[in-house]
Amino acid sequence: MGNTRKSQKRVSKTNAVSTFFIVFFVLAAVIIGWLALDFFSGTKRSGVLYTIGKNEYTLSAKEAYNGDTLMVCFDDIAVLCEMTETGSAQSRTFFAANSEQSIAIEADSQIALLNGTKVDMLATAKLRDGKLYVPLLFVEQYMSGIEVTHDSGDVEIRRGEYNASTKNNPLYQDTVFTGTAEVPLDAPDASLDKTAPTYSFVTDLSAYEPYMCPEDPDAYLILVNRETTISAEYVPGNLVEITNVRKDGRTERMVETAEKALQALFIEMRAAGYTDVSVTSGYRSYEKQAYLYNLYTENEMKAGISRTEAQKIVDTYSAQAGTSEHQTGLCCDMHNLGSASQKFAKQEAYTWLIENCYKFGFVLRFPEGKEDITGYSFEPWHYRFVGRYHASEMHRLDMCLEEYIEYLAENQ
Ligand SMILES: [Zn+2]
Repeated sequence: MGNTRKSQKRVSKTNAVSTFFIVFFVLAAVIIGWLALDFFSGTKRSGVLYTIGKNEYTLSAKEAYNGDTLMVCFDDIAVLCEMTETGSAQSRTFFAANSEQSIAIEADSQIALLNGTKVDMLATAKLRDGKLYVPLLFVEQYMSGIEVTHDSGDVEIRRGEYNASTKNNPLYQDTVFTGTAEVPLDAPDASLDKTAPTYSFVTDLSAYEPYMCPEDPDAYLILVNRETTISAEYVPGNLVEITNVRKDGRTERMVETAEKALQALFIEMRAAGYTDVSVTSGYRSYEKQAYLYNLYTENEMKAGISRTEAQKIVDTYSAQAGTSEHQTGLCCDMHNLGSASQKFAKQEAYTWLIENCYKFGFVLRFPEGKEDITGYSFEPWHYRFVGRYHASEMHRLDMCLEEYIEYLAENQ
């Protein structure tokens, strides 16, 4: 009896030792695997150098990106812009200097409150070392009074200065959170089903489906108009040359996803017999838009009217720099006339376009009858990419982009 108990004891001791080693090796394997994963995911992108005012530092790619979204430290921007703040590290409201304007940001939430209006930042805010990080694109789109550049991946943010300022005596612009006009800017809730409808085409466009129906259906809903302006520094990523441009040697560019979807539209439109439509204008930089607007104004002034009067006229057909969605790289002008004209609406090709463009993710941006809402005259030539899901919804509801964004805000 005594012997048996002794041997049992030895057996259980051996079991305990082997269990310890098994647990040890499994843990070691998990840790090595995790480190390897961390290492390899970190090597996909290089680190990002941030220059925010006089503050300069580098974050590793893993710290700088939230998924595919480039992030920026909002606390640093708040210091730069002399904002005040209330709340906890996790959830804070920042107040712009010299105004009542505010922005509330919460860690792990994708929604920011801009002067009380919900805005989808398209990626969640992150808390790191007590500081809140938000998507850079969100800052670019909704804040003015700062200048953002991100050349070759590095980010630089400065206070905007008035033209009259000098190096020794800079006059800083006040920080403003834009996008607070009557139209709420809520982007749609990611939890809703946004599966794009399928359409049958006479040509084989299967290779273009991922562009017409982008993975993130909400990524192309950016609104730019006279009230919701775009920063002078904003340059879209992935600009590529447009294939179906007018054959007069011009080069026009567009964001790649939109351009590929446009290629699909042209293939199908040509198959339907409309072969003479081509793109006359795509992405326009802030500077180019400023140049055009000024050119048109001076042309109108030849009639002997004042600059202000001339601008009133130009405002009905051209956009002031920062208010044109051509700066987003998501739209193009296309027609089959010598120059863009409302006469294009009488062409059969136009009828085909308005009856089909949504299937490729495009909408007629300035429709007839919506002039009071869009602020622009009817432009039968100007098409905007929003992706098939939203384009189909806008078609179904017969809404322009301003109406649709308001509708999304109210119905979620
Ligand atoms: Zn246009």
